[in-house]
Amino acid sequence: MNMKSENIIFDKVAIIGIGLIGSSIAKGIQKNKIARKVYGYAKTASTRAKARELGYMDKIFDTLVEAVNDADLIILCTPVGSNADIMRNIHGHLKKGSIITDVGSVKKAVIDQIHKYVPDGVSFIPGHPIAGTEFSGPESGFAELFYKKCCLLTPYTKTDKAHLDKIISFWEELGMIVDTISPETHDLILATISHLPHLVAYNLVDTASKLENKKDHEFTKYAAGGFLDYTRVASSDPIMWRDIFLNNKEAMIEILDSFIDGLADLKDSIKTDNGNKLERLFKETRNKRNKILDSIKKLESE
Ligand code: NAP
Repeated sequence: MNMKSENIIFDKVAIIGIGLIGSSIAKGIQKNKIARKVYGYAKTASTRAKARELGYMDKIFDTLVEAVNDADLIILCTPVGSNADIMRNIHGHLKKGSIITDVGSVKKAVIDQIHKYVPDGVSFIPGHPIAGTEFSGPESGFAELFYKKCCLLTPYTKTDKAHLDKIISFWEELGMIVDTISPETHDLILATISHLPHLVAYNLVDTASKLENKKDHEFTKYAAGGFLDYTRVASSDPIMWRDIFLNNKEAMIEILDSFIDGLADLKDSIKTDNGNKLERLFKETRNKRNKILDSIKKLESE
């Protein structure tokens, strides 16, 4: 890929982890001509071979160090539990003036893992493009994944302003609406709007399957729209989600406590035939959900 365009923000970008997010970024860079060269690395030889075959990166290296040592921007697109290991391997090989960012769904724990390895002369700007599907792997990415979705950055107070502006422009060129926020707020927001729904979906599938076994009757063959829509995200990558829950423990416990209280309250209303309470809550939540849909539609039409 030889880019000649005024959109170019980085000369060489190294993408570590070639799954849904890494491959979508590579395709987005290519489509929007944001960098001259895109390099890649993934842990297993089979993923590297598949990505080479798909051909959306200029070069895929067999070692981490080769992938990063000439890069101006390094994007960590691996499960959030893998960052410390990766940084231990690459920190001595980063170019002065380069920027490291990440896409991890958790920020506080990721920052703790990464920042101690960031050498002088290199900027680390944590980030999270809030865009995804339940698919994973090098064949699952597409350039439009990020279009009109939000990207949250959690920069330090001392972050180099020019570098921060470059990262903001990078995500904007991929179609994202960029905001900056504290890591703690990020983690609680994501625990609420993303991590809890995934946990509930995993639990819902597990509950149905345990009941099927107990009653020795196949329930899920009757599953229609609601169950399938609701549990779509339970098809997501298990390693990625294991790492997210373990690395967002504090916020998950807080939101789970509140969710379990709400569930117990609902159970009690059903048990005590408190139809008024149920109806009031359902009316309130339907109105709230409609408002959420309206604000998303507004965002998408801007
Ligand atoms: P994915 O499709 O499962 O891909 C993960 C990639 O990371 C694979 O290429 C894997 O390589 C590689 N990898 C794993 N451990 C590694 C290591 N130690 N060193 C180098 N490469 C390693 O995952 P994804 O959905 O793209 O998610 C990646 C990151 O994006 C996660 O941190 C996640 O929190 C974040 N994120 C995900 C979504 C989403 O909806 N999926 C949305 C926003 C952000 P192998 O295949 O060789 O193992």
